[in-house]
Amino acid sequence: MVDAILETKGLRKYFRAAKSGLLDRIFRQQPPLVKAVDDVDVQIAKGEVLGLVGESGSGKTTLGRLMVTLETPTGGEIYFKGEQVEPKNHNVVRKHMQMVFQNPYESLDPRQSVKAIVTEPLMKMGFSKDVKDVQFETVMTEVGLDKNFARRRPKDLSGGQRQRIAVARAIISSPDLIVLDEPTSALDASVQSQVLNLLVALRDKFNFSYMVITHNIAVARYVSDRVATMYAGRLVEIGPTGQVLKDPKHPYTQALLKSVPTLATKRIEPPQGEVPSLINLPTGCRFHTRCPFVMDKCKTDDPALRKVGDVDVACWLY
Ligand code: SF4
Repeated sequence: MVDAILETKGLRKYFRAAKSGLLDRIFRQQPPLVKAVDDVDVQIAKGEVLGLVGESGSGKTTLGRLMVTLETPTGGEIYFKGEQVEPKNHNVVRKHMQMVFQNPYESLDPRQSVKAIVTEPLMKMGFSKDVKDVQFETVMTEVGLDKNFARRRPKDLSGGQRQRIAVARAIISSPDLIVLDEPTSALDASVQSQVLNLLVALRDKFNFSYMVITHNIAVARYVSDRVATMYAGRLVEIGPTGQVLKDPKHPYTQALLKSVPTLATKRIEPPQGEVPSLINLPTGCRFHTRCPFVMDKCKTDDPALRKVGDVDVACWLY
């Protein structure tokens, strides 16, 4: 990809699960490995919005945290503007990236004032009070809030106002990439579209790159240039939004789309079964235990992403 702001190659994050029981402790057994993110290649270009969709437990949030260096990978590489990011440089690179978390009721420190919350990234970067004052007023205008909110605390704000504060904090340092983790799922339906419209307007004005993590296909459709589907720690399909959502290739993306009610069908068919445990992944294709098109080969051989038209798909049907 030309001008990738961020690129990952073979990115992995394996955790040791917490020790479960007395016997584990007595016999000093190693807790099992949780493969939260397993061999993920992805690029995000300047000004691009990538929607990352999948059910809970598919590894989306861990991938987002890895990309903004809030987690250290256990394998693979991350490149920021073409330069490989080493763990010792995480603090340097982190200044260029921000994350907006799912729940604005939990992600804002209730003891801090709005101004302290919003200007925190500038404080960490050592900017003067004058710069912080000017930038605070600027970003509050950008997110549609009055600068007189400065002394308020999160408890004094509505859910929509809190998420606008979280967005203001994310943009105040003019980052290159913002990862938004389910940015509207904790908000009332009436406020969700306001926050999405704000994100789109800010991207258009400042050319930010976003990765929007969502289980809601409608959100991905509305904001994204490209969509990636994640299943059990892996990307299984990625391509232009119109292409992927109009003509999904991977059976898992097809199943996710069937779970969205449309005016025509009004019927929701959630994907059958559950996301497998990331401790005990199926052999072969990880989706084979739920896939209506499963073949013998799927149970033993793990398909890699390959080009099918304009999209990349990991499936033996292609
Ligand atoms: Fe289904 Fe096989 Fe494709 Fe996996 S590889 S999604 S099991 S058809």
